Amino acid sequence: MAAPLRLTAKSASPGIASGPAFLAERPDAPAPSTAGGYGALEKAIDISIGELERLADGADAESRDIIDFQIEVLRDPTIAEATGARMEADENVVFAWVATLDAYIGELEAADEEQMRARAVDILDIKNRVLGALAGTPIADFPPGSIFVGKDMEPSRFLAHDWSKGGGIALFAGSTAGHVALLARAKSVPMVIGTGRFSAADGDPVGVDGDAGAVVLKAGGMLIPPLAPAQAPTADTQNESSELRTADGVPILLSININDPAEIDALDPATAGVGLMRSEFSITSVADAANEERQLAIYRRVLEQAGDRPVTIRMLDIGGDKPLAGPEDLPGLSASGLRGIRLLLARPEIARVQARALLRAAVFGRLSVMLPMVTFPDEIDRMRELFREEAEKLGRRSLLHRMPPIGMMVEVPAAALMLDTFGSAAFFSFGTNDLTQYLAASSRDDIDADAGNAAPAVLRLLAQAVKLTAGKPVSICGDMAGNPHYLPGLLAAGLRHFSVAPARRPAIRSAIIGLNADGTKAAGE
Ligand code: PEP
Ligand code: MG
Repeated sequence: MAAPLRLTAKSASPGIASGPAFLAERPDAPAPSTAGGYGALEKAIDISIGELERLADGADAESRDIIDFQIEVLRDPTIAEATGARMEADENVVFAWVATLDAYIGELEAADEEQMRARAVDILDIKNRVLGALAGTPIADFPPGSIFVGKDMEPSRFLAHDWSKGGGIALFAGSTAGHVALLARAKSVPMVIGTGRFSAADGDPVGVDGDAGAVVLKAGGMLIPPLAPAQAPTADTQNESSELRTADGVPILLSININDPAEIDALDPATAGVGLMRSEFSITSVADAANEERQLAIYRRVLEQAGDRPVTIRMLDIGGDKPLAGPEDLPGLSASGLRGIRLLLARPEIARVQARALLRAAVFGRLSVMLPMVTFPDEIDRMRELFREEAEKLGRRSLLHRMPPIGMMVEVPAAALMLDTFGSAAFFSFGTNDLTQYLAASSRDDIDADAGNAAPAVLRLLAQAVKLTAGKPVSICGDMAGNPHYLPGLLAAGLRHFSVAPARRPAIRSAIIGLNADGTKAAGE
């Protein structure tokens, strides 16, 4: 009988996994629905009415009155007309819905009669119920424990999947710098890329060797021998103190990056805080981006869990390889190549919702807000102004809020070279993933993009940029911070605050203890 077939690939996340193949691209799979526009809204309203009718069954008389009122509003033709008029004025269906309902809520909140004012919350409820329906069901999940096989994988699909049962990822193409690779490393999910197209049937046993970089396929009907399950980090974090120093006694802060609010549970006592929360992985659809209450709930949970430790939430870094799914594309969003702060400033309706959610969440903990892909100082000034305007609106509505410090990612070379001109940034955090890509003129999706070759240039740029920070807080949250190999260079560049994926924290902690602050090895190491 033929031996299992071993295909050479490139490791994107270490560890070994085996299981039945899940083929992401089936030739007979139905094409995804492209229904958008007003039809999508009508469908979402119908779904919401159905949900409310089910809630009304078995509700007490008082609750039924509220639900009946909500259904009446959803059926009210004037609401539909106002939304339609906004769409004709070129607004996206989701934001047209939000603007119409917000206007209605505003009128109710300003009413003289107490009874009318009390109705505002009922309308807020249906606004968000319809947004929930517009967000739709996430992309179909695949069976836990299986090996995802395909050309590429969407970050939202990775995040929605239950990886606690094992499993792994084998991509025909892909990149080690891509966002799914980054998520896989953060969650210790074995992953390989660049396997090239290979034929396997759904359910075929497949092995992923994320250590050596290989895929193992059954051959001649023989099953591959089971590979050892991925090992979770074994460091005893309970006994670590939060104080961390280099061998020569210089204090170091070690924070974690989180991609999914559930990862806040990895904030053990030895962690300084959350150095980067990538909000775009919790807000993956246009409907979520328009849903202030949903965002507030997510940020509040993270801040409350962090307690008195600082949490830095990065505003939506969407665009590029992080698209925002929706019932229809936001005009100018998909094709323009806009990403990060430029996209937020070009589509301020998205930024305003997030700014309000962040301003309101700030009262629940030590929040800082970080802006992605900043290139020029005026981008920070414009976003600060937007926050001020939204804070004023919240104040008028008597909603509790607090202005958080607003800082920036340093991940565009043009910004890194000019950090002394970013007077209005409250803090800086180096994003070496994008910095490497843009410095080395390599695409993030390019399998040959080799961070290793560009590292000396990145380290030199970091060392120069740190000198331009004028005593403001500075940290590094790109993947380079989670690789002990680069730690001597990063310490020598003057960095003292590292934010890494939770799975990388134990290794970085022990590496720091063995080094002096200038990056040299401690005596006896
Ligand atoms: C970076 O670019 O280093 C970074 C932290 O941001 P992201 O990986 O989300 O692009
Ligand atoms: Mg980045």
